[in-house]
Amino acid sequence: GLADRDGVLRVLSAHLASAWASFDHPRPVEPEADPRLLERLGASLPPWPSDLQATLNDAVRILDASVSPSRPLFLAYVGSSGLETSVLASALAAAYDTNLATAAGAADLLDQQAVRWVAEFVGFPIGEGHFTSGGQVSNLTALLAAREQALPGSRENGVAGHRATVYCSEEAHHSIVRAVEAAGLGRRALRRIATDPQRRMRADALADALARDRADGCTPVAVVATAGTTLTGAVDPLDAIADVCERENVWLHIDGAYGLPAAATTAAGHWFSGLDRADSATIDAHKWLGMQKSCSVILMHRRGALRAAFGHEERYMLHEEDTANPVDRTFEYSRPFRSLRLWLSMRVHGAAQFRAWIESTLANSARLAAAVRAHPQFELLDEPMLSTVCFRHVPAGLPADQLNAHNERLARAIQQDGRIYLAPAALDDAVCLRVCFVNFRTTPDDVDAVLTVASELGNVLNV
Ligand code: PLP
Repeated sequence: GLADRDGVLRVLSAHLASAWASFDHPRPVEPEADPRLLERLGASLPPWPSDLQATLNDAVRILDASVSPSRPLFLAYVGSSGLETSVLASALAAAYDTNLATAAGAADLLDQQAVRWVAEFVGFPIGEGHFTSGGQVSNLTALLAAREQALPGSRENGVAGHRATVYCSEEAHHSIVRAVEAAGLGRRALRRIATDPQRRMRADALADALARDRADGCTPVAVVATAGTTLTGAVDPLDAIADVCERENVWLHIDGAYGLPAAATTAAGHWFSGLDRADSATIDAHKWLGMQKSCSVILMHRRGALRAAFGHEERYMLHEEDTANPVDRTFEYSRPFRSLRLWLSMRVHGAAQFRAWIESTLANSARLAAAVRAHPQFELLDEPMLSTVCFRHVPAGLPADQLNAHNERLARAIQQDGRIYLAPAALDDAVCLRVCFVNFRTTPDDVDAVLTVASELGNVLNV
């Protein structure tokens, strides 16, 4: 029969408690699963019932043996915080199984309010928007809206016959390439604009590329500026890029999947000047806003742009003219109630707390960068604008041509050691250790552990 609800509640609360307790523990984050457990994962479809508790124990063992990006010492890629309020709202939304694609009623209103709160938090003049599964889908959503504006009728006719072009910097995330592919523009439509020494898009190079393409008969669809590149956290010069876009009348999308929350801070807010001039922006609440995956937001300046890109009719679901159905504004059909997480968390904690949390992660990166600068055996490879620090171990006497291999081995050794988790990255030709602070629970002591662990292991490697 169906599962006994009291039993489910009991095991849920017990397992949540142990998962959260383990979060304070700097346990290994590298997967290390029991071989017998993995063997059981190969078993075929069970025809008969199994015990709930025993099955759940297996599930938890798998979870424990998988990398969890919400741990305070997970400093690789772009992590998260997995706030408890977010977990609570996810569980509630899952229980109600609210679907924002269809007559969601009040849930749709709450969704819209959460979108407005996010926009207000970062200072984006909001027309409309919605929650998506992630930065990839948010960026695609923006590009589809931009395509329909630049080439009206492209939904019907495709883009054949037009030489559509899209612009982003050499440092833009790969999701932009995939969005260009998925929008049917073809990868050749993408112009990768050169960057300055801070790895920010050069606005003069953008203007040149646009002028060249216009003279060649191309139709520019969108410029994608990145506000917080994934590799180093560089924020493109948004004001200068907005000047070019205004002059050329081209849609400006800002990919702030990682970095946009910093627009709300005093320490880094100045980098985002010009944000209010964009047509659209992506912000991933599951990165630097504390939510767990998957929870991104696409913000649109002009009301109606989404309906122009996604509005449609179907006979099994009537769409009313003035109260647009949510599916008329989204690429996704069935959509879970993701916004409940952010709405509940922002209301419970308040915007000031979120701002303070983000400021604390910026302070963490400033602290690590200062320690690297002061350390004779480490080299800072990039001055951090946001919360990402790229540095390498430079032991005395190690020949320069061995630095890359050394730092790659060091990154692996750090992962195996398990006290902290970071991943190697490549800055031009230099392999570095890359650390990204987005977790609100990472403390200054955790920050200090980075160089302690790296120099301890680095010096042993070198023996
Ligand atoms: N854009 C940027 C700048 C990112 O850093 C990322 C992911 O790290 C993405 C887009 C893709 O986001 P998601 O993984 O949520 O689809």
